[in-house]
Amino acid sequence: MFDEKDVILEARHVSRIFDAAGGRKLVANNDINLKFYKGKTLGLVGESGCGKSTFMRFLVSLDKPTSGEILYHGKDIMKLKGEKLRLNRQNIQMVFQDPAQSFNPKMKIRDVVCEPLLNFKRIRPSEKDATARRLLEMVELHGDFADRYMQNMSGGQRQRVGIARAIALEPEIIVMDEATSALDVSVQKTIIELITKLQREKNITIGFICHDIGLVQSFAHQIAVMYLGNIVEVLPGEDIDKGMHPYTQALLGSVFDIKMDFSKKIESIESEAPSPLDVPPGCPFCDRCDRCMDICRQVHPTLKKVGEDHEVSCHLYE
Ligand code: SF4
Repeated sequence: MFDEKDVILEARHVSRIFDAAGGRKLVANNDINLKFYKGKTLGLVGESGCGKSTFMRFLVSLDKPTSGEILYHGKDIMKLKGEKLRLNRQNIQMVFQDPAQSFNPKMKIRDVVCEPLLNFKRIRPSEKDATARRLLEMVELHGDFADRYMQNMSGGQRQRVGIARAIALEPEIIVMDEATSALDVSVQKTIIELITKLQREKNITIGFICHDIGLVQSFAHQIAVMYLGNIVEVLPGEDIDKGMHPYTQALLGSVFDIKMDFSKKIESIESEAPSPLDVPPGCPFCDRCDRCMDICRQVHPTLKKVGEDHEVSCHLYE
């Protein structure tokens, strides 16, 4: 299903370690290896605080890893500086959870969506009106919204503006950080439909960060499951029910389903994840895993291929 020649962005051995109080180290990302394919969506799922957003910030050059490479068409964008770094930002854009928090509230929507185009001199100021209307219509908003302010719009409308701004520069990749988490379920659905429609039309690659595996599996081509800064499983979205890692299975067991049978045991995790400052040696999931073995407490498992486009990091499958 996934072809190596379609890889446009690749994380290789990416780690991010923060210094913490008392000389301790917080490992937010540990040796992450992931590939993003042209025109496909990679959904990155895991609990809050697991390191998903830290990782995605590298892709849009908002932060640098402590070690590792982020290759865009084979070139390490972490080494870019100055004008080359600025120009590269056109290729990989981001949509945040709440656009109202991300943009100046005094800016009209026209200015919000046209700002990147003006910054890169892709339009003249005189072209702002027509451009804003065109972009707003692409995200299925009326062109008259150009005269509004973010605070006068609903959550779903604001997110459409965030998407309009992200697609303005015609990027190859869009990173969406919990972009639908704050929205009502019915609005989430319309935003996902919009994203998938734009992806089909423009062949955009999407990195979609989300804590809701049920939502991500509905449209992501590929899913990476992150736990305490480690990728523990990568598999095609359509095969999510074949998830093998105990953590993936627990996430799947926690997805509410209208036909859920509460008389049967539901695979879930009762306890909370340990602090990233206190990651256990061996498997990071061992304190919460009911299948933990002796080896799990001693040896850190690594991702191993278990099927087509399917990798798992767990001693059960070695
Ligand atoms: Fe559980 Fe061991 Fe697998 Fe970790 S490596 S998920 S502790 S079985």
